[in-house]
Amino acid sequence: EADLLPESLREDFPILQQTVHGDKPLVFLDSAASSQRPRQVTQALVDCYEQDYANVHRGIHVLSERATDAYELARAKVRDFIGAEHSREVVFTAGTTASINTVARSWGDANLAAGDEILVTPMEHHSNLVPWFQLAERTGAVIKHVAMTDDGRLLPEAFDEAINERTKVVAFTAVSNTLGTVNPVKEIAAKARAAGAISVVDAAQSAPHMTTDVRQLGVDFLAFSAHKLCGPSGVGVLYGREALLEAMPPFLGGGSMINRVYDDHFTPAGLPAKFEAGTPPIAPAIGLGAAIDYLQAIGLGRIHAHEAALVGYAWRRLADIEGLRLLGPSPLEHGPEVRAGLVSFVLDRPHAHDIAQLLDRDGVAVRAGHHCTQPLHDRLGITASTRASFYLYTTRGEVDALADSLATVREKFRPTGRKRKPRSAGE
Ligand code: PMP
Repeated sequence: EADLLPESLREDFPILQQTVHGDKPLVFLDSAASSQRPRQVTQALVDCYEQDYANVHRGIHVLSERATDAYELARAKVRDFIGAEHSREVVFTAGTTASINTVARSWGDANLAAGDEILVTPMEHHSNLVPWFQLAERTGAVIKHVAMTDDGRLLPEAFDEAINERTKVVAFTAVSNTLGTVNPVKEIAAKARAAGAISVVDAAQSAPHMTTDVRQLGVDFLAFSAHKLCGPSGVGVLYGREALLEAMPPFLGGGSMINRVYDDHFTPAGLPAKFEAGTPPIAPAIGLGAAIDYLQAIGLGRIHAHEAALVGYAWRRLADIEGLRLLGPSPLEHGPEVRAGLVSFVLDRPHAHDIAQLLDRDGVAVRAGHHCTQPLHDRLGITASTRASFYLYTTRGEVDALADSLATVREKFRPTGRKRKPRSAGE
């Protein structure tokens, strides 16, 4: 079976065309942590810095005007990418983490009181947990977890049980960075809204891999990072519904976010400047615009289908490895739509970190550890897992390289076939 996206795409990614540890072709399966970026994106950064760079929104000179136009064009591209109604609903931040913290600080501090409830899920990344824990500490609000199925799915019915009249925030991920589960965002957001709570969607792992339409999904806030979708690091997006953003006080104070500053007080700027204090990530935002162009030219639907096929293939190949437990819902049981492009697993031996190290020797780059989802690992009864994550440039041949390398690792650590050194006297 052929891959759905052509292997020729890889020519856009010079970093993938290398060998490591001597002659091992690099098999990069860590895109969920941070993707690689195509020449088109690095070229946009070079063009910005070599031709059009100056601070934005300030100088009345040609470079500043060009940089401002390019920065605002990038915002319009993001608006289109996520289906937002207005560009002023798109706030550039440092990334998903900064976006979620902005909502927790700004909306949270203004709207939460002791006894209010913040609903989270067991599969959240720490960046969609800790800001809410901190908000709870400041306000006396209470953290609650919605139930998850044993195979790592969030069912809309579980939210009916967990949401009540005290619920003010429903914070959840669109795609789990550890399990790969694609969650029913639209249904969950509707339940939050019906209860008068806001929905805060962590789209760090969904925005790169499938179509996002904030109006169709009916979400209040949505956060993602450029570096996971072929863009630069250092920039991300906070989408917020206009009425909500309008009513929120600014979070970070400084230049650019003000309308007028007096001796001892200020009036805030309008949207989106109110939430963009200081010099923003100018070139990274422009690079994000170029990444969006690149992804849209291929098509998010095709990218998702390519990855779903890879996950199905990986699932079947890895399931054949003795002692290997795959995490998250089975695409064979629930269909390919239940998962995005990653597979995580545990082997009975060796430990996840040793697996990653041994795979690396074969040129296969994977992630090992808790992936910033410690509460999820606690629920699964494990301390660490190994994750292989895919993107538009991943091939079936690379999944084969992963499976073959893993099989060899497991064989070496076979419980019965292990050769033990005879104990010497005195040991
Ligand atoms: N949420 C999820 C689901 C993630 O996978 C990540 C990145 N690992 C984040 C949030 C945080 O993103 P960033 O580090 O870019 O702020």
